[in-house]
Amino acid sequence: MLQRARSHAVSPLLLTGTDLDSSAAAIGLCAVHSDLFCTAGIHPHDAAGAPDDWADRLRTLAANPAVRAIGETGLDFNRNYSPPEAQRALFAGQIVLAGDLGKPLFVHDRDTGGAVYEMLAERSPTVPDVVVHCFTGNRVDLERYLEAGYYIGITGWVCDPSRGDELRSLVPDIPIDRLLVETDAPFLFPAGASAPAAGRKHRNEPCLLPYVINEIARLRNVHSDAIAAATTSNARALFSLPVSDVNT
Ligand SMILES: [Zn+2]
Repeated sequence: MLQRARSHAVSPLLLTGTDLDSSAAAIGLCAVHSDLFCTAGIHPHDAAGAPDDWADRLRTLAANPAVRAIGETGLDFNRNYSPPEAQRALFAGQIVLAGDLGKPLFVHDRDTGGAVYEMLAERSPTVPDVVVHCFTGNRVDLERYLEAGYYIGITGWVCDPSRGDELRSLVPDIPIDRLLVETDAPFLFPAGASAPAAGRKHRNEPCLLPYVINEIARLRNVHSDAIAAATTSNARALFSLPVSDVNT
C-alpha cells in the first residue's frame, strides 16, 4: 500500500491515530519508514472506552517527535457511539494537550450543531493550528471555521454523487492556503476511482488521493497540479513535514 502511494507521488503520509493502541502502532510504523508521520489521539467514537489514565498515556505518546498533531479528536453526534459527555471530556483534554505541546489539533466534527466550534472557540487560543478534518458541514460551519483561521480537510466525500452536493458547492470558496486533502482511509473510497489493488475493490488508500485532488481542481476550474502543489505546501508547513524524496 505504501509503495502504491509513493508511486502516485502521495508521500510523505500523515497516519491518523484514533485511540491509544492505534496511535502507538502509527508511531511504530513511523520508526521504520522515513516518509511516515502521524497523529496521536482518541476519536470521539472511542471516548467511552478510554482508560482512566488516558490523558497521561496520550501525553507520553504525543511527545514522540513523529507525532505532528493531536487527534483525531472532536465530537460525533451522528450515532453517539460514545455518550456526548464522555466525548466532550476527551475533546477538552486533547485541546489542552495540543496547547501544552504546541502541536496542531486534528478535529472530527459530525452533526454536532456547532458544539465543536463552540468548544474550540472557548478553549483553543493556546493551540497553534486546527484542522477540521473530513469537512462535511454547511456554509455557516465553513465560514466560521475559516474566520477562526482553521484548515479544512477535504476527502473523497467531495466525489460522492449522492452526499457530496453541498461540499462541492463550498469547495471553490475555501482559500487555497487553508485547503488540505486527505483520504479518511479505509473509508470514503472516491466514487469513480479504480480499485487500488486486486481484491481491494472498495478499500480507500492513499494512492487514490489524486481523485480527490482532481475533483477539487475541476470544481475550482484550475489544473490539478495547482491543487496538489498548494495542499502539499500547506501540509508541509502545518505538520513540519520534509520535502518528499520520492521520484515521480
Ligand atoms: Zn473523522
